[in-house]
This record gives sequence, structure tokens and C-alpha cells, in this order.
Amino acid sequence: MGVSKNIRSIEDKAPARKSVPESRPDSRGVVKQRTLKTSIDCRGIGLHSGVKVSMTLHPADANTGICFKRTDIAGGGAVIPARWDCVVDTRMSTTLGNEDGVTIGTVEHLMAALAGCGIDNALVELNGPEVPIMDGSAQPFVFLVECAGVVEQDAPRRVIRILKTVSVEGEYGQARLSPGSCLSLDLEIDFEGGALAKQSLTVGIVNGSFGKELARARTFGFLHQIEELWAAGLAKGGSLDNAVVVSGDKILNEGGLRYDDEFVRHKILDAVGDLYLAGGAIIGHFKGVCSGHATNNALLRALFADSEAWKYDVFQGDEALSAIDGGIFPELVAETA
Ligand SMILES: [Zn+2]
Repeated sequence: MGVSKNIRSIEDKAPARKSVPESRPDSRGVVKQRTLKTSIDCRGIGLHSGVKVSMTLHPADANTGICFKRTDIAGGGAVIPARWDCVVDTRMSTTLGNEDGVTIGTVEHLMAALAGCGIDNALVELNGPEVPIMDGSAQPFVFLVECAGVVEQDAPRRVIRILKTVSVEGEYGQARLSPGSCLSLDLEIDFEGGALAKQSLTVGIVNGSFGKELARARTFGFLHQIEELWAAGLAKGGSLDNAVVVSGDKILNEGGLRYDDEFVRHKILDAVGDLYLAGGAIIGHFKGVCSGHATNNALLRALFADSEAWKYDVFQGDEALSAIDGGIFPELVAETA
């Protein structure tokens, strides 16, 4: 299998990582929204399209959420909010789209990084149809956010608190959300044996766990499936530089795995990214069995179809302190703007 060298590592051009001072909730105990301190860009290749893309993350105003913009679309570009109801395809990755048929593919690893870094508001500009795959994990995007720096904004963070259990089940697997005190995820995968046999893991997004436990887990596939995809003109950007490739019991990547159970960790990373399309951090417990992008989006659609299953909320008082100290998203602590 040929190894593509056409991905430019962000380390080639990344500025020095900024240290960020610790902060606490303000006197009312409200956790504030955060955005990037400065704009920052990277370049890479789309996993499915094979197209070279430049991506720039920009700061954005409070209460604007995460928005994507295709700058290569005539007439001033096309803006698509990073929201569950803008998801138009979940077959190979999560794709957002608008009513004009403009799409932005493979948003999930970037969304996971933004969730993990506690970025509430950002504008993501792309000059092509797909978020660059980088190394197949969320770590390069976490590194970009760390390099840009993070600032607090003068508005409380809005979270989505789960009030009762919602579940979905179909050909695409099973998943449910139930009440909890922070975002925690429990996922099982069960492939056909070999190196990709049954794995399960539960991760609470607390105490820096996103950065430590999930961010470096790469996307993966079976060699025979990848060869079929290539024959069908898909996964054009896929290579051993951006995916773990499995053939029976063997891992074909020279360096092996980054975690013994890298596959289930990546599926949890995908779920963190897909769930951030709720429009804010979910406070609740996710359970997935053989679940993927289709399951995750179906789950959000089921959640928002039931107004008694959730509510918007902010963290206040002791809860806010425990959210910071226990760490809803503690990887980066913001400077005050
Ligand atoms: Zn993924």
C-alpha cells in the first residue's frame, strides 16, 4: 500500500504553544463562553475527496456557536452552522449541507477537538469541500487551538442538560442519552475478530480526559474495505499517514497503535464530535453499541424531537466550580478577554 506524503503536518508551520493562565468562574459562579484568541490556519487533504484544503479557525462573537464557511463558493461563500439539523450525510463521516447543496464533509474530528477544548464560538473557513483529515485524529486540531490561545467572553456558557433517557436503534447500531452530571460516554464495538475484535470503554470528559484518553485516537479501516473504496473512487485521500489500516490480526502502520484499544477510543472521539452538533456541550451519559455517525445524528434528532428530554442550562455556583475543578473541558483554561 502506497504511503501518501502529501499531507503537510501543522508542526511544520505552527507557532509556539502559548501558556494560558488558570481562571475560575466569576463572582456569580457562571462559566463563561470561550473563543479563540487569534485566527490560525492549517492545510491538509480531505480523506474522502482527496482534495487539498486550507482551513482557518477564527474567533467568533458570543452566542454565535460554531459555524463553517466555504470560501470557494461564488457570491461571498456559503455559511453552514455546525448543527445536527444541517447534517445531510452520515455514511462515511458526518457531512453538513445547506439548501443550495453546498456540503462540508468530515467535520467530526474538528468538532471533537472544539468540544474537548471548550470552544463555544468559532468560524471555520475552508476553501474546499472537506475538513482536512490531518493524522486521522483530533490531536492536530487541539494543537491548533492551543497555539491560537483561548479567551473568555462576556456571556454564560449554554449547555444541554439531559432530563430523561432517549434511545435509538437501527441497522446503524444502538445509542442512548440519559441524565448525568457531566458528559460521559460508554461505547462497545464488535467487528469480525482479528485486531479489531470486541472492545468497550467508558470515558468521562473530566480532568483532562479528552486530551489524554481520546484526542490521539485515529480513524481506522480494514485493508480489503479500503481497496474496495478506492476502486469505487472513495477514500481518495486515505493512507497510512491518516488512518490505522487493519488486515486480519495485523496493523499495517509501521508505528503500530497509539492506544491498545485505539479503535473504540476513536469511536468515542467521533461521538464527542457528532454530539457537539447539539449546539453546545451535552451534560448527560451517552451509551453506544456498534454505533457510528448515523446513530449519533439519529440520537440528536430523537432528543430534540422530545422537548421534555432536555433543557438549555448554564453552570452556576458550586456546580460551576465543580465543573471547572472536576473539569467539563479543562484542557485549556481561558484568559479573560
Ligand atoms: Zn472518526
